[in-house]
Amino acid sequence: MTAPTIAVVGSGPIGSAYARVLLESLPDARVVMFEAGPQVTEPAGASVRNIADPAQKALARERSQGPQSGTHRESLGIPAGVVVEGMFTAREGTFLLDFGGEGAAHAATFPAAAAANNVGGQGAHWTCAIPRPAFSEKVPFIPDDEWEDLISTAEALLHHRADAFSDSPIGTAIRSLLTDEFGAELPEGYGPSTLPVAGDPQPDGSMVWAGADMVLGPLLDQGTDEAARFELRDLSLVRRIEHANGRAVGVTVEDLRTGESSFFAADLVVVAADAFRSPQLLWASDIRPPALGRYLTEHHVVICTVALDAEKMGGLVTDEQLARELARRAQNAADPVAAVNRIPFSEPDHPFSLQVMYAENPPFQLDPTHPSAGNRWGYVNMGYGVRKHPRAEDGVRFDDDELDWRGLPNMTIEYALTDAETAEIDEATVRLRRAGEALGAFVAGPRLLPNGSSLHYMGTMRMGKTDDGTSVADPWSRVWGIDGLVVGGNALIPTANTMNPTLTSVALAVRGARAAAQTLR
Ligand code: FAD
Repeated sequence: MTAPTIAVVGSGPIGSAYARVLLESLPDARVVMFEAGPQVTEPAGASVRNIADPAQKALARERSQGPQSGTHRESLGIPAGVVVEGMFTAREGTFLLDFGGEGAAHAATFPAAAAANNVGGQGAHWTCAIPRPAFSEKVPFIPDDEWEDLISTAEALLHHRADAFSDSPIGTAIRSLLTDEFGAELPEGYGPSTLPVAGDPQPDGSMVWAGADMVLGPLLDQGTDEAARFELRDLSLVRRIEHANGRAVGVTVEDLRTGESSFFAADLVVVAADAFRSPQLLWASDIRPPALGRYLTEHHVVICTVALDAEKMGGLVTDEQLARELARRAQNAADPVAAVNRIPFSEPDHPFSLQVMYAENPPFQLDPTHPSAGNRWGYVNMGYGVRKHPRAEDGVRFDDDELDWRGLPNMTIEYALTDAETAEIDEATVRLRRAGEALGAFVAGPRLLPNGSSLHYMGTMRMGKTDDGTSVADPWSRVWGIDGLVVGGNALIPTANTMNPTLTSVALAVRGARAAAQTLR
């Protein structure tokens, strides 16, 4: 057999994990990665949070926002008709699927759904929290011993740190107060702890956050054997997966700089273009298993902001420790996060994840007359993630007769909360109030964010043990019924869960890539 050629669609952490594992497993393979958005960082796919210069950071974010990228739209190959000035926008670096302009998705029931359009995908803008799934969050049909190896490999690819900011005295005090409040109710090993994150700690106490660049690793180091066999093409929109007789044979790609389309032949096609645009591409390619786009889940988010209480903190942190903490923070004013804590998911009594981010300032402008304004102990932004139980009714539909801003079948998201979710949201709200009162005074009280706010969209190409119509892919991420086509990303996750999903998706990608390499060998 000749050396295999692999097409990867999407340059986020998942496409990058496929590229890395496949090239390291197959010494003569070649990988070409197609990314619809522009390269906005150096190195390619790096976290935009690492850019120190505020103007450069803002530019990288704006250029990632596809139809909401302002004056940059034309240079990104976006049709002139897509005009959405002055619209409500999404988190910086992302755009709303339902952005309100021509070719916007219809997402009234899931209005905060967002995506990124840049090399590195959402992984250039993410918070980098990478907890492991636990209890029923785990994919039930992957054996435990193999899972342990997959998740450890995924942690290494993402530069996992369990102890980020663990030397922060304020972070330690937050854990101590939360343990006083909740510790007795939680199982051993699942109490308040530091939140595992992806990145490299620096000697000054700051972090270089991980993006797809770290996952790609040697593929970006000119001079390595892997780099010679890897090519990343930005502004390259894959319009169709070509297939014949039940086998994927390549992709049709539009070069957004020239508008020219061409066919790229491949022995394996990997689609990792996010949980909405991957199923959209399969649909546009006439690959339409019944579960495609269905079983959409996310994490409902109940959040609040709290000013840390001077008396409580003062009992646990000395003035000298506080002064040192503030000095450390001042060295890296560009990155607002100074300590990250959590209470993880556990069963049966705590099917939630609490994420607690300590920062010197609240995430919004606080009126200077507010009693908590200028709090020298700082603030926490924290939120409970609440699970969504998968149902076929929730999902995204594609319309062949109405095209979106990219000229692909437009999307309509259908989504509703059931009694199962609202009961857990109510319980999370009560717990969040307790957590807030344990730490200080509310600056913004607990509130439920609109559907889609989590940015963790799952289930729309879920994996299943058998091809029974409720899944799109097998346990190795191979699309049922189409050889040579593998899908990746959070869309594969079939469970109701509250963990941040990227680590799990990278672990599933490692499994898929290893199996694909074996077949190609
Ligand atoms: P993406 O990173 O979304 O990349 C997909 C890429 O495919 C995009 O660049 C897109 O332009 C490209 N693409 C789409 N269609 C095509 C096409 N037809 N042709 C070519 N290219 C295409 N997750 C966590 O686990 N922990 C967190 O703390 C966390 N925080 C987050 C905070 C923010 C602000 C955001 C935005 C996301 C966060 N996430 C977090 C989610 C995380 O970023 C995603 O889970 C992760 O990026 C998914 O990786 P991916 O490779 O599957 O998709």
